[in-house]
Amino acid sequence: MTDPKTYHVKSYGCQMNVYDGERMAELMAAQGLTASDDPNAADLVVLNTCHIREKATEKVYSEIGRLRKGAAELGRDKPMIAIAGCVAQAEGEEIIRRAKVDVVVGPQAYHNLPQLVADAAKGQASLDTDMPAIAKFGALPARRKVGPTAFLTVQEGCDKFCTYCVVPYTRGAEVSRSFDALVDEAKALVDAGAREITLLGQNVNAWSDGEQGLEHLIMALDKVAGLERIRYTTSHPNDMTQGLIDAHAHVEKLMPFLHLPVQAGSDRVLKAMNRSHSRDSYLRILDRVRAARPDIALSGDFIVGFPGETDAEFEETLSLVHEVRYAQCFSFKYSPRPGTPAAEMTDDFIPDDVASERLQRLQAALNTHQQAFNEAIVGRSCDVLIERKGRHAGQMIGKSPWLQSVHLETHAQIGDMVTVDIVSAGPNSLGGVAKVKAAA
Ligand code: SAM
Ligand code: SF4
Repeated sequence: MTDPKTYHVKSYGCQMNVYDGERMAELMAAQGLTASDDPNAADLVVLNTCHIREKATEKVYSEIGRLRKGAAELGRDKPMIAIAGCVAQAEGEEIIRRAKVDVVVGPQAYHNLPQLVADAAKGQASLDTDMPAIAKFGALPARRKVGPTAFLTVQEGCDKFCTYCVVPYTRGAEVSRSFDALVDEAKALVDAGAREITLLGQNVNAWSDGEQGLEHLIMALDKVAGLERIRYTTSHPNDMTQGLIDAHAHVEKLMPFLHLPVQAGSDRVLKAMNRSHSRDSYLRILDRVRAARPDIALSGDFIVGFPGETDAEFEETLSLVHEVRYAQCFSFKYSPRPGTPAAEMTDDFIPDDVASERLQRLQAALNTHQQAFNEAIVGRSCDVLIERKGRHAGQMIGKSPWLQSVHLETHAQIGDMVTVDIVSAGPNSLGGVAKVKAAA
């Protein structure tokens, strides 16, 4: 195998993977490789994998097969294949043994990708799944050009060990990046074109500089000239401090949106999940958040069909949804993850048809509230950050402060902030009319 000249990075799963994928692309570009939009035409393909739910590993093996077939159909040599992300961490050597890939690199070790690729070019399959505490960020190249919205990973790993979740095993212990490095990277992102930054972490609100929490970082970013919007995700209820809640009342650039997963509405299920919060303690946090920022859009994650979940316990999840009236949510069927405690509860597994029916009912309830939240914005005007072109000529799509997609006809360009009258609402988006031409 020769040194690759072109690369393609494909990321699956969460926003943190998207961020990691961007950083890996920057690493490859810094080595002089050229990006290719077509995975079948690239010399090096990095599959940045996710292990959180169903059949993730099998999907990776199928994708490897597809890539090799695609190259053969084009009459090209087999591409160099690097498996990154959480499946790489969980499967390790097994992927090299089973699929003969060239590189396996874990989420904490991808700063070593150039060396691993160089070794693989010499014909030596190479693997790095070490988990050094946060060493990688210091070893990555400076940020390149980015779009109007950018991700910034501030915290990695998780110490919470929810019984269904693989993250503490694949991403390691909770580690926070340093305050100075984050402020520098945020400024670099703004210089590279970002007007909105979303701070990321598996438990982003567990970020700490040793003394102060996430609100301290948010307040520092509030002062960065050229940055107009700050968001953060994903938060854990137990790390939702009053300081962070108060930031929603007084930090102007902090958007009125909070993603705070609850997973289930029954205390027995929450305990079996090792969530370390109760239904009531979760609801009381939301009361305080709404007191600080009455118009806040609330979001959450739900798992249905956790082992042993009864019909009555599922009803408690539905009643919580109606009590909170979420603006948007993610909901999943429980998926046993190898190596996690819940995967051992096989006697209590819920039949798939029961879990599917619960998921349908939950999603119907969530959709009703999402539609109602969207309709409540009609008649108001708000700022929209233009992110991309729409399907029709002259149509642009941007985001409201509450993270809804807003479709409008405008001459404004990507990256402009436009004041928009909201005139219609659907389940997944709003329609608007631009009021004032964007400030440059
Ligand atoms: N740290 C966040 C929290 O505590 O809620 C969540 C991060 S996790 C990567 C994203 C979501 O995936 C979780 O909130 C949960 O709803 C879902 N999830 C995790 N493990 C799962 C599993 N085994 N089956 C189904 N959904 C799962
Ligand atoms: Fe997974 Fe729970 Fe950690 Fe979230 S808090 S990443 S769900 S173990």
